[in-house]
Amino acid sequence: MNILLCAAEVAPFAKAGGLGDVAAALPKAWEFLGHNSVVILPKYGHIDIEKYGIEPTQFVISVPVGTWMEYARLWIAKLPGSNVPAYFIQNSDYFDRDGIYGNPDGFTDNDRRFIFFSRAVFEATKALGFRPDIIHAHDNHTGFVPAFLSSFYRRDPFFARTASVLTIHNMAYQGIFEPKRSMEFSGFGMKSFYHGSWFEHNGAVNSMKAGIMFSEKITTVSPTYAQEIRWSKFGEGLQDVLEGRAADLIGVLNGVDYAEWNPVLDMNISLQYTPETLSRKEELKTRFLMKSGLSENEARQHIPLLGMVSRFTPQKGVEMLEKTIENFLSKGLLRIAVLGAGEQRYEDFFRYIRRKFPRRAFITIGYDIPLSHNIIAASDFLAVPSLFEPCGLTQLYALKYGTVPIVRATGGLADTVDEYDAGKMSGTGFVFDRYDRREFSSALQRALIAYRYQPHWKQLRQNGMAKNYSSEVSAANYINVFTWALQKIGVYIAGE
Ligand code: ADP
Repeated sequence: MNILLCAAEVAPFAKAGGLGDVAAALPKAWEFLGHNSVVILPKYGHIDIEKYGIEPTQFVISVPVGTWMEYARLWIAKLPGSNVPAYFIQNSDYFDRDGIYGNPDGFTDNDRRFIFFSRAVFEATKALGFRPDIIHAHDNHTGFVPAFLSSFYRRDPFFARTASVLTIHNMAYQGIFEPKRSMEFSGFGMKSFYHGSWFEHNGAVNSMKAGIMFSEKITTVSPTYAQEIRWSKFGEGLQDVLEGRAADLIGVLNGVDYAEWNPVLDMNISLQYTPETLSRKEELKTRFLMKSGLSENEARQHIPLLGMVSRFTPQKGVEMLEKTIENFLSKGLLRIAVLGAGEQRYEDFFRYIRRKFPRRAFITIGYDIPLSHNIIAASDFLAVPSLFEPCGLTQLYALKYGTVPIVRATGGLADTVDEYDAGKMSGTGFVFDRYDRREFSSALQRALIAYRYQPHWKQLRQNGMAKNYSSEVSAANYINVFTWALQKIGVYIAGE
């Protein structure tokens, strides 16, 4: 199958969260499964072109917007660790600046930036002569892609047998735009915008809704989240829209690129380890604590380390740590290693904790990929107490690294972590249901008990390490979805 994946983030070139990881892992896995894929993303100003060997091509494409043309040059590199070509859309006006979205408030021209990108995807693939069976769009940034395909491009014989699939990574971000500006810029015009139209939601243009309505199939990143967004507030106002397309909405669990996240191979950590050599993991924890300023004696004390690597937004459940964690820290029951950045109030909370417990709380405010690997490897537990979580990747990394996840049973967290059962010695972590500090606290207490008792502690970690959430499994599931999407437009691929 020829698969064109377009996304606002593709790791390692440009990544803000899980979207970037998944957009990179899937094409690599499709290549392994024998499919051809091409990745397209914007060429942001902060992308390190030297580091990744990104070079200009001779292709300059014309992109129709509004009633005029704009232009973009294509740049190319290989997706690291693969032969998958990654093409970058260069347009200095839209993308030559720092950052992907301009968070926290977003760039004021994100409507034009991402509508332009969505349209450029078609012109780019045509210029390259890569005829896609599937265009796989991701999140609201490429929500206009399915709309462009079904309204404009399928008339072109080049795209006549192309179907689109939209993957929703997070319903909380929908791409809400001012109607006149975005409808005219996209070329649909205001005639396509009316109450109840596929572009309109609550009087504004909603890019996610357009993607949901125009794509052949819609997926989201875990089976539980696929249910949650249909019938509850998790749909963030679009639950009825999703319910209307329920027959085409499928949960495909995210997978991990185990070439990137694997304690046996990881070069970001100073010692590699397997389920049989967990003492090396202990040593990594000691090294991490000593690097953080503790003496060797302190670092070797039998005190568990709770890690957290996260964007600091209301979604991620930092509130669960407020109040509870102080109690555990002041009693000396655990230490914490936190890496994250985001909303001021959460950053301030962690700064406060760092000041109060300088020898127990190791907090880094910022974005640091090597450190994220080190914290996940060195910690005994990883906290993912999210309010909602479409899939969540850090708990999947934690499982592979023998780091026991403590999660709330929501979205993909519910699908991937099972409560440890000491009787059967089964299960991989600690799970709480209600978004309630006491419940989180009690899950943490259960975890601390398991930490103290062998053979449970070893078994619990090995259970997690034995799990397989590989991106290859996920990629194969997507191929099924793509086949169904093609069938919807009357295309049957032999042998698929
Ligand atoms: P989301 O996409 O909602 O942020 P996920 O768990 O799906 O959540 O993915 C988060 C990804 O971003 C993981 O790869 C995680 O390691 C990474 N990440 C989050 N915060 C940071 C940070 N401050 N520094 C480095 N990596 C981070």
